[in-house]
Amino acid sequence: MELLLGKTEAEMIDLARSLGEPAYRGRQLYAAICQRRVSDFADMTELPLGLRQRLAEVTRVCETRIGRIFHSTDGTRRYLLQYGDGREAEAVFMPEERRDTICISCQIGCAVGCTFCMTAQLGLKRNMTAGEIVSQVILVLNEVYGVGIKPPHGTNLVFMGMGESFLNYAEVMAAVRLLADEKGLAIGPKRITVSTSGIVPRIEEFAREPIRPHLAISLSGTTDEQRTTLMPINRRYPLAELMRACREYPLADRERLTFEYVMLAGVNDSPADARRLVSLLNGIRAKVNLIPHNPAPELPYRASSPDRILDFQKILVEKDLPAFIRRPRGQDISAACGQLAARQQAYAGAGV
Ligand code: SAH
Ligand code: SF4
Repeated sequence: MELLLGKTEAEMIDLARSLGEPAYRGRQLYAAICQRRVSDFADMTELPLGLRQRLAEVTRVCETRIGRIFHSTDGTRRYLLQYGDGREAEAVFMPEERRDTICISCQIGCAVGCTFCMTAQLGLKRNMTAGEIVSQVILVLNEVYGVGIKPPHGTNLVFMGMGESFLNYAEVMAAVRLLADEKGLAIGPKRITVSTSGIVPRIEEFAREPIRPHLAISLSGTTDEQRTTLMPINRRYPLAELMRACREYPLADRERLTFEYVMLAGVNDSPADARRLVSLLNGIRAKVNLIPHNPAPELPYRASSPDRILDFQKILVEKDLPAFIRRPRGQDISAACGQLAARQQAYAGAGV
């Protein structure tokens, strides 16, 4: 069955017309779904009863359900979400002092195969649709704040859950347009970050998008040999090509490209790595997020020690490369970066 969440306002107007209704009914339907985050036709009392009944016969708003919620001691919540076909993916809510962040998925699993990431171990099950992507934000906001309640201090969105955004480009961009729409969820593109493992042709396409979120590139290696071991996509798009695309990327005023670098003990965390990173990013208006590795029993790496990460950061900062150390969130419930694998349980012993 075709679902309503994922359709633009224009498409909902077409639907209303096809049911013999005036255009404004389509606008009301869109506002109910994307602005007030209502998923049950019975609650759309601004629509006539007959129309609500007909809609309920031919369509649904969305089939995503919350399967389970895991609560971390740091306030993070991990949502195990079930889609219409029974597949599962995850979203994570992270309260922050100034503004909340929701981390969302764009694929069930991932085909890229990074050796430090739990999602890689699932392989790619399938792409998510734009509606499925947006449904995560709606379900999380409704669960945290209540249906239709505006988040009190705004929302940041990061495409850093399961999957590689640039291998599901069309649906991710359709989702971005819906999320950013002033008449809908109204989460502006400046509040959205898309993260990629470095799919060069899509970086070039993204650069030309009229509605363009912030871009983050997962780097995690400073030589081709090292990066290929960690992120096999580097064989297809090696560092020289990736860096060329980054250099050519048209940044807006004050905008920076974010580079993410997972800190793996004894693998990519030496002072020589830090110096190579500085020269790789030379000439790019960049900022670096150093992500302490979030371990899992299935992964072959250990996290770099806090001192090692501080030393690494110091080398970057001394060369005027802004570098920040990411605070792990929700490690105790397997909700931290790279730990998402649609687990039914939060495993004990995370952080070991
Ligand atoms: N596929 C996209 C976005 C999802 S991963 C990408 O790779 O960019 C989001 C971030 O988590 C990436 O920067 C990735 O390098 C990082 N990451 C993956 N596994 C991790 C782990 N075990 N510990 C810490 N960060 C990890
Ligand atoms: Fe996929 Fe990103 Fe995990 Fe790599 S780090 S396997 S691209 S989700």
